Amino acid sequence: MADRILILARTVAKEDCKNPTDGMTLFCTRLDRTKIEVKRIHKMGRNAVGRNAVFIDNLFVPEEDRIGEEGRGFHYLLDSLNPERILVRIEAIGLGRDALQRAAKFARDRVVFGRPIGQNQSIQHPLAEAWYYLESACWMCLRAADLYDRGLPCGAEANAARFQAAFDSATKAVMTQGGMGYAQEYQVERLFRKSMLPRIAPVTEQLILSFIAERVLDLPKSY
Ligand SMILES: Cc1cc2nc3c(=O)[nH]c(=O)nc-3n(C[C@H](O)[C@H](O)[C@H](O)COP(=O)(O)OP(=O)(O)OC[C@H]3O[C@@H](n4cnc5c(N)ncnc54)[C@H](O)[C@@H]3O)c2cc1C
Repeated sequence: MADRILILARTVAKEDCKNPTDGMTLFCTRLDRTKIEVKRIHKMGRNAVGRNAVFIDNLFVPEEDRIGEEGRGFHYLLDSLNPERILVRIEAIGLGRDALQRAAKFARDRVVFGRPIGQNQSIQHPLAEAWYYLESACWMCLRAADLYDRGLPCGAEANAARFQAAFDSATKAVMTQGGMGYAQEYQVERLFRKSMLPRIAPVTEQLILSFIAERVLDLPKSY
């Protein structure tokens, strides 16, 4: 739908740069569909936001479309990555809390063999565990946000806010509800599908672990 596009382009060859992240320039230019092909990627959820594969061929970008200084583009993008991570994590925590509340309500209401299923510890404990993972993730998120607001480095905290917490809660919510967990009517299957995304985007959990290993624990870079 857009008529403009943000492009990060390498404008200095990598071998001529001190760091590989130098030499890239940011542009906001016209989305010329004669030179840019945009193909919708159909996905598992989050369908309010489209996702596309974009192929750019032979596009001329005028200098007035440049954002900031030449060669500094990647550094400008970096400024937005940590807030994006914090935002995605806190969104995931909200999703996890919703799943957990739905599961707890179901466990209170659903009576099997003469008592609510939520009276059984094998139903209670996974939900209680999901709660404390979620709440610890929330505190890590708030710490990251506080560091960011104070202009301090927050990469590790923004990344670390337990990325699987929402997925854990949503999975447990589906399992708590059994066959009804799989039914669309109860919403937790939707939350389950949505909870996959924070494990992948904006950065995958493997790459987060590599980042923490390298930047926090001072281990050698693995990739
Ligand atoms: C719905 C959605 C929206 C998105 N929106 C945006 C967006 O707005 N902007 C944007 O820039 N990107 C966006 N992305 C892209 C997203 O950031 C990437 O998909 C994600 O970072 C993973 O990169 P990749 O798909 O290239 O995986 P790959 O790099 O191909 O990796 C595939 C798998 O291998 C693992 N892997 C790769 N290398 C290593 C290694 N060295 N060690 C261990 N494991 C490794 C990865 O963790 C992953 O599990 C979006 C993705 C989705 C699904």
